[in-house]
Order: sequence, then C-alpha cells, then structure tokens
Amino acid sequence: KRSIAVMTSGGDAQGMNSVVRAVVRTAIFKNCQPFAIMEGYEGLVRGGPDYITPLKWEDVSGWNAIGGTNIGTARCMKFKEREGRLLGCFHLIQAGIDALIVCGGDGSLTGADLFRAEWPSLVSELLKTKKITQEEAQTYESLNICGVVGSIDNDMCSTDATIGAYSALSRICEAVDYVEATAASHSRAFVIEVMGRHCGWLALMAGISTSADFIFIPEEAVNPGTWRDEMCETISRHRKRNKRTTIVIVAEGALDRDLNPVTANDIYKTLVDRLKLDTRITTLGHVQRGGSAVAYDRVLATLQGVEAVNAVLDSVAGSASPIITVSENKIMRKSLVDSVKLTKSVASAIAAKDFGKVLSLRDPEFIE
Ligand code: ATP
Repeated sequence: KRSIAVMTSGGDAQGMNSVVRAVVRTAIFKNCQPFAIMEGYEGLVRGGPDYITPLKWEDVSGWNAIGGTNIGTARCMKFKEREGRLLGCFHLIQAGIDALIVCGGDGSLTGADLFRAEWPSLVSELLKTKKITQEEAQTYESLNICGVVGSIDNDMCSTDATIGAYSALSRICEAVDYVEATAASHSRAFVIEVMGRHCGWLALMAGISTSADFIFIPEEAVNPGTWRDEMCETISRHRKRNKRTTIVIVAEGALDRDLNPVTANDIYKTLVDRLKLDTRITTLGHVQRGGSAVAYDRVLATLQGVEAVNAVLDSVAGSASPIITVSENKIMRKSLVDSVKLTKSVASAIAAKDFGKVLSLRDPEFIE
C-alpha cells in the first residue's frame, strides 16, 4: 500500500483545505494511505507523528467550507539548506512515504522540485551514515512530487487561476461595496490597497468588478511625470457626470516606469491636493485571505487534488515534477520547473523595465 503525503506551504489561501480533503479521499479511494505534513516544510524538517500524521476519510469531513489551512503553513528557512532537506528525507522514509503533494506558491514549488532532484543523493547520505538500511534505500530510491498552486495573487504563469485567487477577489469586492456606501454618503474618495507584490491580477479584476475609477498594477507601470494628471483628469470627468464616489485601487507592488513604488499615500496626497477630495485610505490586508473559499475555488481545488494523486501514482521514478493547472477550463499537468521559471522571468522583466514583455510572458499558452 503506497503512502502519499500532502502539505500546504507559503502564504495561506482559501481552498487549501479542499485540496487536502480531495487528496486524502482520492488516496484512500485508490487504496493508498494519506498523510498530512503539518506546518509546511517545518513539519518535514521536524518529523515524527505530531508533524507527519496519517489522515482518515472522516478527518477531512466538512473541510470544503473552512477557510485557511487546517494542517498549517509556515515559512521554513531550514528547508532552504541541504541539512534541512536531509532531515526531511529521513522523516519521510521513517514514515514510509515516497510521494508528496505540495500546495503553495512558486517558492514552495521550487523547494519541492529541488527536494525531488536531490532525493537520491540524500538517500545515499542517509545510507552512508547508517540512518537507513540498504533495503530502505532501495525501497525509497526516488520521490514523486506534484505541485498544486495555492496563492491568492493568481501569480503563477501557465495556469489560468491559482487556488484562492477568486475567493480573495470576492473578499475585495465585498469590502469595496461596503466602502462605496460610506463614500456615496459623504461624497468621498477611497484609495484601496490590495495584495499583489509582483502581480496585479487582484487589483485589476477588483477594479473591473467594482467599476473603480483608476487602477494601479505592477505590470502596467505608469509614467512618473504624467500619472497624477491622467488620474485627476479621469476622476474629474467622472465627478462632472455627478458621480459621488471615487474608488482608486492600488496593488501593493504598483510601480512607475522608473520603478518607484506608487503608494496609496502618493495617490491620497494627489487627490487631496489637486482635487480637494475628502479622501480615505483603506488597506485591506489580511481580510483578503479571510473567510471560506468561493465555490469556484472549492471546485478547482477538488479537481486539482484528485489529479495530483493521479499524477504521483502515474509518475515514473526520477522524472521531472508536474504541477496541476487549469487552462481553458481543463485540468492539466504541466512542467513545474518551466512554470516557475516563466513566473520568475516576469519579475525579471519588471525589474528590467521591459513592460511589454511582462504581459506576453503571463500568457498561459506559453507553457504546454
Ligand atoms: P507565496 O506566494 O504565498 O509567497 P511561496 O510558496 O512562494 O508562497 P515562499 O515563502 O517563497 O512562499 O516559500 C515557502 C517555503 O518554501 C519557504 O519558507 C521554504 O521552506 C521553501 N522554499 C522556498 N524556496 C525554496 C528553495 N529555493 N529551496 C528550498 N526550499 C524553498
């Protein structure tokens, strides 16, 4: 009977619990033993039954409706060192596990594929230092990894949606709708800062959904000399049409073309100084990660969790890791390494001020 472990890592996202639930139940359905790795890679490094825990069918009952991740997530510096990964390898072998499904962002998935690539040398080292037997070394000669992308930012190339993104978007829309009521009552302007350090998907989609007056995102860097005029001109035009509210949405990573941040404070000052608007800043912060997942994320997480179990069971020893994506509504397997590489090249294109390249790189068709 094979053992398959699942972990959630990096920033939490709504829908992660649905991934765990789907993995656990599919594993049982396929006659495998599911395990949860608690607290992300920290649990792998610490090991033992408190951190590597078998789960039963009923243990994940009702998890579709619960936000966050019930098995915990963490940032773990030790796993970035070989020594931490050596401990992780030892603890997985101790628990009899040779397949791992990681739900997280690009950092977590990079770590997962590195762990898989390094696995044979970690096993040799454990054998040499007599931590494991020859038989164990043979049984666990390779590790199968599969990535599922959990991130509220929708910041992974090669997939149309990451798990949690539509839930966070929904939270933002609810919050903006609340703010609209007070904005209309007082004829106020609101500058709303949303998450997204390298990816403006949340800000852009929230702007469209709430009919915001102006949007700032990292991918479409504004001209440092003219953005204030352009924003004020647009907002004045809207106000002249008797609009009583002004909503400006800014991603936390928004930039101008000199790569200076465009902050909520800059925007606030401009609205107050130039347009004399009664203006407030609302930073939504962790509210965006809160609450339960919207139906789309529950469905996506469930379908991807099922496919992740299929992928690790199909996996050929030593082959590169897949990630599970969604492209044109189809659940697909793509190359984990290529997807992460492409995602990182978007950040490099922003850093190189090659803004034209940024949007084309984000095209999900780029990776097959
Ligand atoms: P988010 O998008 O929410 O930031 P993430 O998965 O990208 O999620 P990170 O903080 O980058 O979040 O990574 C989470 C954990 O994954 C790290 O704390 C570390 O344990 C592991 N990790 C990240 N990068 C690597 C790497 N290059 N090698 C090994 N482990 C890594």
